[in-house]
Parts: sequence; C-alpha cells; structure tokens
Amino acid sequence: MERRVEVGVLGATGMVGQQFISFLQGHPWFDVTWLGASERSAGKKYMEAANWTLDGKVPASIAAQTVHEAKPVAGAPKLMFSAMDASVAGEIEQAFAAAGHFIVSNSRNHRMEPDVPLLIPEINADHLGILPAQRKNRGWAGAIVTNPNCSTITLALGLAPLKQFGIKKILLSTMQAISGAGYPGLPSMDIVGNVVPFIKNEEEKMESETQKILGDFADGKIVPLLALVSAHCNRVAVVDGHMIAVSVELEQKPGVAAVAEAMAAYRGVPQEKNLPSAPKQPIHVMTEENRPQPRKDAMLENGMAVSVGRIRECPILDYKMIILAHNTIRGAAGAAVLNAELLLAEGLLD
Ligand code: NAP
Repeated sequence: MERRVEVGVLGATGMVGQQFISFLQGHPWFDVTWLGASERSAGKKYMEAANWTLDGKVPASIAAQTVHEAKPVAGAPKLMFSAMDASVAGEIEQAFAAAGHFIVSNSRNHRMEPDVPLLIPEINADHLGILPAQRKNRGWAGAIVTNPNCSTITLALGLAPLKQFGIKKILLSTMQAISGAGYPGLPSMDIVGNVVPFIKNEEEKMESETQKILGDFADGKIVPLLALVSAHCNRVAVVDGHMIAVSVELEQKPGVAAVAEAMAAYRGVPQEKNLPSAPKQPIHVMTEENRPQPRKDAMLENGMAVSVGRIRECPILDYKMIILAHNTIRGAAGAAVLNAELLLAEGLLD
C-alpha cells in the first residue's frame, strides 16, 4: 500500500496514548498529526502536557505538536485512535463518529453494544460486517470499532485455536501488570511486594467479552459463544505483561499435543493480508517448564504475539496452560493499530 493516512490520538497524553505514539513511530501507513486530551492539556505542547513514562524521549515529530481539546473539529483526521479515560470516552467517541470519524477505541464504553465490533483481527475479522447496521442504526457518517480489555485479548487470542474443538468451560486466574491500571496507577505502598486480588469490573469484562469475541457473525448479528467463563483477576507487582493461568473444557478431547499444534499453527486474516503490525506467528508455544514469563516474553514479535506454555492435562477440566501477552501493546495500542490496519486493508475507510 502506497498512500499515507493521517491519524489522531484521543487521550494521547495517557499511558495507552503514549503507547500509540510510540507504536506508530515509523509506521508504514499512518502519520500521527492530531493529538487530543482533556482541557487540562489542551493548548499545551505535547511534551509539556504528557508525563512521558516510556523509555527514551518523546518522539521529535510529536513533542512540539499542540494538544487539542477532544472535540470533533474541521481538519481533524478521519481515523482516530481513542485511549481516553472511560469516564468520558463514551460520549466523546460518539460525537466523533457522528461527525464522520472512524474511532478505533481501547475504552470499554461501547464494547458490548450489539452493533459494535469487538475486534481481534486474527479471530473475528468478519464481525466488521456489523458496521453498516451500526451506521444505519445510529445515523452516523463514521463508526466505532473497539478492541477488548487487555486481559481478555490475551485470553481470547490464546484460546481461539481451540474453538474448533468446541469450548465449553473456561476457568482462569490472572496475574496482571501494574501498567494496566494507567498512570499513576496503584500507590506503591499497595503493590510493591504484594498482590491485590481485585480489579474493578475486570472479571465481568473477561467473562462477557470473551463470549462476544469468540462468537459468530450470522444473519447480520454477532452471536456470542455459549461457553461458561469464570475469571479471578489479580494485580501483581509486574510492570508490563498480563499472565493468565487457564483451565479449559472442550467437547472433543484432542490431547495435549494437538492442542499445542493447533495453537502454534494458528493464523488469521492479519497474517494472510500481511498487515504491518501483525505478528508472523500470533501464538508462540513454549516448551520450557518455566515459560512464558512477563519480563522475558511479553515483547515477543514487537509485543504483538501471545505466548502459551505449560500446556498439560487438567484433572478437573480437560487442559490447563499459562497464557501471556503485553498488556499495553497487544492488549491496547498495538491491538487498535492492527484493527485500523484491517479497516484500511478492507477498504472500509474510503
Ligand atoms: P490514563 O493514563 O489515565 O490516560 C487517560 C487519558 O484520557 C489521558 O490522555 C487524559 O488526558 C484523557 N482524558 C481524561 N479526561 C478527559 C476528557 N474530559 N476529555 C478528553 N480526554 C480526557 O489511562 P490509560 O491507562 O492510558 O487508559 C486509557 C483507556 O484505555 C481507558 O479507557 C482504559 O480502560 C483503556 N485501556 C487501558 C489499558 C492499559 O493497559 N493501561 C489496556 C486496555 C485498555 P489528560 O492527560 O489531559 O488528563
């Protein structure tokens, strides 16, 4: 693809917004030309408005850009990534979609609405078929596409290859990184040397979003997968990388080797279309007895691949394993960029 596309980032100053800016540096299709945030930041240069928490300096092409208030205005790019605080994202995203923008959002606000795709392009690229209905229902010139919650992306992508065997039950316990709570996140006194066994609304999101993502697009509707999902969510003293201990019950009993093989062989539309941010191999199966680990494996394939290890039989359900992904890359900014690449490759932004 030759053409370049201007993009904006709403919530550009936050943790995920910074990951967008970092992830989009040198992108072969997208140029970040518009930054939006709250009225606290509006009017300031980005380098003054953002408390840059990533390694290195604010990219030179971004540092001197002026941050705008997050309102649709003439001249703002058609394609907008959204990483705004969920308390405000709902209405602002709708206003942009009504004004003709394509919003590719990380926020939870619209994920579970029946006419909004909850997209992981390897799994459910066909769910984009709901967009004409969304635009018609709402009278929008633009549209909203969402990516799942960070721990749900990790789980759903790790388990997607098992859908062919009939997923019946999923029981999981997460070990979630502190970067998943935004900046400044939890007070250090709460998390250093500690585990916090509660993340507000996370268990509910993992349970319902997983069913929607793994569901089918049939007769113009997204029909959720009828699998039972039970989640325990925990915050641990890890900076980046959500790890999940998962047990799964399947209708068929393919055996541990076939489960591992299905995961390693798994490919989807992003790999077929060779999208720029797609990992070559979405799931890396690790055979070492002590992998995956967040510090060693979260950055696999530029942070876009999931790693799965310790696949073994489960005496209660059928199989158990550890699944890991980078929560702010594959679980947030990278996921949304891949969604936008799919929209562009499918001609949906024209
Ligand atoms: P964050 O660090 O707290 O950043 C929030 C962003 O929202 C900032 O840019 C902030 O701008 C902006 N904002 C706040 N009030 C606003 C308003 N009234 N109008 C416009 N912008 C406003 O949060 P985060 O961790 O990046 O998360 C952002 C979103 O992504 C959340 O919805 C979160 O649930 C979701 N998410 C996060 C992760 C993760 O791993 N962190 C993963 C998946 C999804 P100012 O700087 O001007 O206040």
